[in-house]
Amino acid sequence: MANQVRELIEKLRVKPGDKVKLKASDADGDGLFKDEADTKAETLKIAAQVNELQDRLYAERQRSLLVVLQGMDTSGKDGTIRSVFNTTGPIGIAVTAFGRPSERELAHDYLWRVHAACPRRGTIGIFNRSHYEDVLVPRAHKLLPKSTIDERYGQINAFEKMLTENGTVVLKFMLHISADKQAERLQERLDEREKNWKFNPADLEDRALWEDFEEAYETLLEKCSTEEAPWYVIPADHKWVRNAAVGHIVKATLEDMDPKYPKPDWKPSDFKVV
Ligand code: ADP
Repeated sequence: MANQVRELIEKLRVKPGDKVKLKASDADGDGLFKDEADTKAETLKIAAQVNELQDRLYAERQRSLLVVLQGMDTSGKDGTIRSVFNTTGPIGIAVTAFGRPSERELAHDYLWRVHAACPRRGTIGIFNRSHYEDVLVPRAHKLLPKSTIDERYGQINAFEKMLTENGTVVLKFMLHISADKQAERLQERLDEREKNWKFNPADLEDRALWEDFEEAYETLLEKCSTEEAPWYVIPADHKWVRNAAVGHIVKATLEDMDPKYPKPDWKPSDFKVV
């Protein structure tokens, strides 16, 4: 892996126990990448390489990759998926968007629906929102006792450790936008006809709780960034910076996994296609 990519990864990774101050942390990503046009071209190449690596992962069928995307509304979870996985074969990939839990889901523990959506061996699973909503929403909206939420951080770490010990590599990205950028993007959803469908009045309720969500994010980043399942805080005010950063980290992770095409236990020369 190129040194620059290693540096990028180290810069964005939350070390276990690190206290992140999101307000002080850069949502702009100035200086991470040089030229916008070059970076966009590089991201296209990365997407093609992610596709090649995914092909090997699929052929190997031993391990899987789970990519968790979290972030405030308009942080660009959908856009990131579209950019980084735009050429990845659909067979090897499964995107799950987690909305408010249904009655059936609420009848189970909060990890039930999440575990069921984890990627099969050989595939990449992408979570657009995740089990982290189960510590974010109740904390920011004060829906559960603090002690119940506090227990969940440990439960989540144990769950993710179990996944990694069973062949799933876990990557978690917090797409970090500023409150000003969110205001701009929400306003676009009101102003532009083609974006109206994306507007949900409930987003304004969450926006009004910006500081509470920020605090809830800081807590989960501190408590749930582990050696085996790290969190990355991705500057997301600029889409091209966000896409490039996530793309580099996904690609580097797959390269480290180094999936191999399986060797057949027969010789191709023993067969003749007639
Ligand atoms: P999006 O806003 O990501 O486009 P939706 O509007 O369908 O998607 O649903 C997202 C909403 O569901 C968000 O407000 C989110 O906080 C909420 N949500 C997701 N998971 C949970 C959960 N486990 N508990 C409570 N609310 C949740």
